[in-house]
Amino acid sequence: MLAIQTHLLNRSVCRLLVSVSKKMSKPQIVFVLGGPGAGKGTQCSKIVETFGYTHLSAGDLLRAERKNPSSKVGTLIERCIKEGKIVPVKITCGLLKTAIFANKNTKFLIDGFPRNKDNLDGWDEEMGDKVDVQFILYLDCPEEVCTKRILNRGLTSGRTDDNVESLKKRFQTYVNETLPIIKHYEKDGKVRSVVTDCTPDEVFERVRKHFS
Ligand code: UDP
Ligand code: MG
Repeated sequence: MLAIQTHLLNRSVCRLLVSVSKKMSKPQIVFVLGGPGAGKGTQCSKIVETFGYTHLSAGDLLRAERKNPSSKVGTLIERCIKEGKIVPVKITCGLLKTAIFANKNTKFLIDGFPRNKDNLDGWDEEMGDKVDVQFILYLDCPEEVCTKRILNRGLTSGRTDDNVESLKKRFQTYVNETLPIIKHYEKDGKVRSVVTDCTPDEVFERVRKHFS
């Protein structure tokens, strides 16, 4: 009798251990969202240095894909970027998935994604059971401050979308399509917000509290 009970107990302990280790081995994701110029890239570099995450910028992955001469979607990506429109999720999610599973790290910051409902649905369908989304870091910055930063960056960035016309469209897309995604995650209690209208170091003092 005791032997059977011990055997059953061992089996359930084993199951529990397997499920815990599976959960632990799933990549842990923090999405970093905020308007253009809110400081996503800058803060991500600091988080990487201090907390050992791997930074994946959806925009950077798309820009790299656009440059790849064998890519079939380069022109589509360029058109979207210049018009401040959002690239279809199959492309962006595919790039993110490849980058995540090619990396040994288990902690990732995904910057600038998901930006709309198409992104969110496509991600949930493809990645929902393969990763854990820890939380959403929302960098909240007034539009005037963001505009100044981006136009300043435009002097040297060489980016085709760091100019007044593209920027207007990027803000429109942000307000109409990305803010509702942040609201969606807010309902699940997953959003950690930081106001980012000050220097990078001052912002990081606020950001780091959410990671410690
Ligand atoms: N983009 C996209 N999907 C993404 C991330 C970026 O379509 O998931 C495109 C979109 O056109 C966006 C541009 O890439 O306006 C630049 O994105 P990035 O995140 O680099 O700009 P940021 O907001 O950091 O200035
Ligand atoms: Mg960026």
